[in-house]
Amino acid sequence: NDARILQMEVTRYGRDEALVIVRDVTRLHNLEQMRRDFVANVSHELRTPLTVIAGYLETLEGSGQAPQGWQRPLAQMLDQTQRMTSLVNDLLLLARLETSERNSGREQIPVRELMERVAGEARGLSAGRHQISVECLQDATLTGDATELHSAFANLALNAVKYSPAGGPIQLRWWVDSRGGHFSVQDSGIGIDPIHIPRLTERFYRVDAGRSRDSGGTGLGLAIVKHVLLRHSGELGVDSTPGRGSTFTLHFPPSKLSTAASA
Ligand code: ADP
Repeated sequence: NDARILQMEVTRYGRDEALVIVRDVTRLHNLEQMRRDFVANVSHELRTPLTVIAGYLETLEGSGQAPQGWQRPLAQMLDQTQRMTSLVNDLLLLARLETSERNSGREQIPVRELMERVAGEARGLSAGRHQISVECLQDATLTGDATELHSAFANLALNAVKYSPAGGPIQLRWWVDSRGGHFSVQDSGIGIDPIHIPRLTERFYRVDAGRSRDSGGTGLGLAIVKHVLLRHSGELGVDSTPGRGSTFTLHFPPSKLSTAASA
């Protein structure tokens, strides 16, 4: 079909003059669509081979029959296969999120339960190296897609673990006020220089690529968070001081909440 996509920009000059620019962005839009489809297809196709490789490697490692001297290389192969699996899963999730900017699910997600689950996952990654606390100041449910919201909450909590030295406290907090519901993750980790903050939600943007890779990062976490928020009318807040720590906050509007008082 030959439907065109036009973009219009109006600049006013005084009372009765205006400059109107109309751009035909059909080609750009189609190219962007092709890029998304390509990434989604490649990621999907890579999942099966990766599952097979990981399966055999795990069996071999578990059987204790690996040839002499192959324990370390085998562990490294498994580690890298798991990294690739995370990357492929994140790419696939991101491609799905990007296909529609708005309109998330209509599930009712209890925030306290979601926070406890995410704290559990963060404790698993931390393996006792951090004190992770949960402070849910008000019971509420969020309206949206449970998997997507879990992914957004979890990415912030796991980042706090990845970018904090051992022993640092990490606090997950939820509160509700007249502007909506807010979920924050505060860490006392390495922090982020202000020049990087505007770019953190770009795909594969990392302040320190080496450190991110070592900690198992795919560089897609905050891009996923951004897209989940777009689909839930939410916003991301970042407050960070290098060397002192960061606070990442997800803000949700009142329309996405129901609290005990309003239920
Ligand atoms: P990654 O998989 O690399 O963690 P993200 O998209 O989740 O990717 O984050 C992008 C970058 O932002 C990270 O590589 C890291 O440099 C920085 N970052 C994210 N969270 C934190 C944090 N809590 N403290 C310090 N730096 C962070």
